[in-house]
Amino acid sequence: MTAMLRGGAGLKAPDQVFIDGQWANPTSGRMIDVISPMTEEKLLSYPEAGTADIDRAVAAARAAFDHGPWPRMAPAERGAYLQRVASLIETRLDDIAWAWTHQVGAPISLTRKLVGQNATLFRYYGGLIATYPFRDDRTRDDGGAVRILREPIGVCAAISPWNAPMVLLSYKIAAGLAAGCTMVAKPSPETPLEAYIMAECIEAAGLPRGVFNLVPAGRDGGDHLIRHPGIDKVAFTGSTEVGKHIMRVCADRLARVSLELGGKSAAVLMPDADFARAMPSLMTYCMPITGQVCFSLTRLLVPNARKAEFLDMFLSGVRSIKVGDPGDPGTQMGPLAMARQRDRVEGYIAAGRAGGATVACGGGRPRGLDRGFFIEPTVLTDVTADMKVAQEEIFGPVVSVIGYEDENDAAAKANATVYGLNGAVYGQDVERAYAFARRMRTGGLTINGLIVDPKHPFGGYRQSGMGREGGPEGLDNYLEVKTIHIA
Ligand code: NAD
Repeated sequence: MTAMLRGGAGLKAPDQVFIDGQWANPTSGRMIDVISPMTEEKLLSYPEAGTADIDRAVAAARAAFDHGPWPRMAPAERGAYLQRVASLIETRLDDIAWAWTHQVGAPISLTRKLVGQNATLFRYYGGLIATYPFRDDRTRDDGGAVRILREPIGVCAAISPWNAPMVLLSYKIAAGLAAGCTMVAKPSPETPLEAYIMAECIEAAGLPRGVFNLVPAGRDGGDHLIRHPGIDKVAFTGSTEVGKHIMRVCADRLARVSLELGGKSAAVLMPDADFARAMPSLMTYCMPITGQVCFSLTRLLVPNARKAEFLDMFLSGVRSIKVGDPGDPGTQMGPLAMARQRDRVEGYIAAGRAGGATVACGGGRPRGLDRGFFIEPTVLTDVTADMKVAQEEIFGPVVSVIGYEDENDAAAKANATVYGLNGAVYGQDVERAYAFARRMRTGGLTINGLIVDPKHPFGGYRQSGMGREGGPEGLDNYLEVKTIHIA
């Protein structure tokens, strides 16, 4: 680990893999380029892990699980290691924010605010296991004793996407390690830097060898990893399409899976909603990170009787979003993360137009930003619930405003996609908003805002996923239940 990427700040460009507690040269002979979304030039180039490296990583994690101290340690002792990792991550928050902004194009004002979640997750799970009921003694009807144990699942693959590279890995690694599992991390090929920072912190915290392994690779490497018989569980965040593929592959050997997938989340503005009060959170969460966040509120359901009033306020807010260099603290929206993302988003805007939607604002590339994968924040109206733009995850700064007649109509439209990740209900009568939230088939919701808190479970209904990350439920994801009867 030698090549310096960011002078002075200590961010090293990856040139090795981390296996069995050691840095080693990868064997694939292939290099992966990371392209800056701002300049469209190469930000860095690094060697991809090959299948032989992945096999070695799984073997190391296997040995650490089957024979090493980690799964057998007292939870409080494992917790102390995780607290050390958290403290080390805290010293690297500037680097993590820099890496996120420069690889993905997420505004630095946002990445600086969110990076603390990584340390929070290690601290939270490190603390939780000190009191978590890994053992529960019960009594049978015949008076005999029965002991219920929660034991680590085994060797886990953690596969993450590029949009929020470190936090989506931290959810998995912190919870998996806390449970006593050993881990093989495969970050997204477009965003390797944060996983390297994590590996450096885990190494410096002195975790036993083989407990955490890092093999950056693309789709083929990921596919090799999920098929590996040494992997007991795959924890995945990414697209619904790849999530289904992973589930099919893992079904063959009944390897455990947890899946955090796509979304098409609705914000429902109830008939009594105070639009002015709703605006700040809608503006923040309808297209965060240029709309490349799974829980973005991409469908805004508004009472037909108040649609003109809503659009007046909402469109003027969207038109005032400051689009530009994500490294500038005043920027509210950066470019899309990569050229293929811009192609995808432009394809959806064209499909919206062709299907009869009206582009009420945006829809093109912003003037004066000729370099970088920029696209204007875009609002579509005259959208019906069955249109492609209302059904599919666009993963860009494109929001549909959809009118509804009454609460039954709103509930039917809110639930009219295959997804069920997130949602929001805005209303002055909180009990009525709560009752409406109960009708929405999603894994998470916020009334009058949007909150995702790593200390509480997050995940999807239906095709948005399976299992939960965050909170005690996120730890359960990495545990098997064993029942020992005493006859
Ligand atoms: P992706 O599914 O293309 O890739 C995700 C990861 O899976 C990457 O590391 C990739 O290399 C790997 N991968 C791809 N094919 C694989 C295969 N056959 N076997 C094993 N691994 C494979 O997704 P992406 O484009 O990186 O991320 C965007 C998607 O992620 C969006 O759909 C978004 O909604 C979703 N996402 C979901 C959440 C959530 O918590 N629900 C959070 C963020 C992103």
